[in-house]
Amino acid sequence: MNALAATSRNFRQAARLLGLDSKLEKSLLIPFREIKVECTIPKDDGTLASFVGFRVQHDNARGPMKGGIRYHPEVDPDEVNALAQLMTWKTAVAAVPYGGAKGGIGCSPDELSRSELERLTRVFTQKIHDLIGTHTDIPAPDMGTNAQTMAWIFDEYSKFHGHSPAVVTGKPIDLGGSLGRDAATGRGVLYATEALLAEYGKSISGSTFVIQGFGNVGSWAAQLIHEKGGKVIALGDVTGSIRNKAGLDIPALMKHRNEGGHMKNFHGGEVIDSSELLVHECDVLIPCALGGVLNRENAPDVKAKFVIEAANHPTDPEADEILTKKGVIVLPDIYANSGGVVVSYFEWVQNIQGFMWDEEKVNMELHKYMNSAFQHLKAMCKLHDCNLRMGAFTLGVNRVARATLLRGWEA
Ligand code: GLU
Repeated sequence: MNALAATSRNFRQAARLLGLDSKLEKSLLIPFREIKVECTIPKDDGTLASFVGFRVQHDNARGPMKGGIRYHPEVDPDEVNALAQLMTWKTAVAAVPYGGAKGGIGCSPDELSRSELERLTRVFTQKIHDLIGTHTDIPAPDMGTNAQTMAWIFDEYSKFHGHSPAVVTGKPIDLGGSLGRDAATGRGVLYATEALLAEYGKSISGSTFVIQGFGNVGSWAAQLIHEKGGKVIALGDVTGSIRNKAGLDIPALMKHRNEGGHMKNFHGGEVIDSSELLVHECDVLIPCALGGVLNRENAPDVKAKFVIEAANHPTDPEADEILTKKGVIVLPDIYANSGGVVVSYFEWVQNIQGFMWDEEKVNMELHKYMNSAFQHLKAMCKLHDCNLRMGAFTLGVNRVARATLLRGWEA
């Protein structure tokens, strides 16, 4: 099932549990605005290259639209639409005053030079600058983009609109970025996992973990779990997968990766086939990479007791059903990976206030937001007698529906 069909299916199920009016249900599903632009840039060799860029602005009932910009070959309208919709529910679950959006450019960032990436980002910004803004739509990093990408967007946008640091979040610290933003999604995953495990009388230090993905989210999640005494027994990314039953030395693996090393050349682990990763024996499985990785083929073989969705939509609905039947507890993406957008909100607040918080305050506030969202999510599970995914969807959808009705949508 494609990402949009899967996300919309979860939304509809939540709308039914909430007893939403069918007209309101339809209106909440349809995106506010879908933008598609062609971005042509000169390559370093003098030839021209064209890329298609998207920004889907899904909903703004609760505030300015918010969401990342992804550079990846698999970026397509359906995927961006699904991710934009997920942002609407995610910001509502997190209780930050935003709506949802997502953008992307279909490209392979690893095959572009730094100056080609800069030109591409600037052309994309030129094409969308009048549709984004501090109080309308605020981009952030996602797969294939980072603080440097945000710095270019901020700079290009500011040429048209004057100095506007709060138009993007996830910026470098020197340009108004927030301390703790880089680690925020991974740190949120840690806090969410702690909250969930505590419900079952378990802890990070007493559990074994398997992590898929070693980019921004996966590498921070692995480091923070390791620091808390959790044992990461298998880990994989596009360069290969490894395991070590005694627990991988994550700081050594970080060093190896930062020096350009591939997973399979790391000496502290045994190489395994990447298909073994998601079905590896462990207490907690954390997919931190692409969507749809848990499907009907591999879900029956999952051995983890808990799945923490650090990636966006890693579990397709068929896998979801299989895992639920097996008694696997799945902590859904719109809660589990919301730490990134929560600290994006703190960054935006700091930019607007013109006052910088220290890292301790950022992490403390993040902890509060993650714990409070978990309590609200649990209350929805109880109220609707449903699993964690539907608890999160009913929580998010209900908040957006209430804001929509309060603003008056049937004029
Ligand atoms: N790209 C991240 C996400 O999917 C962060 C979005 C943001 O900070 O606006 O949640």
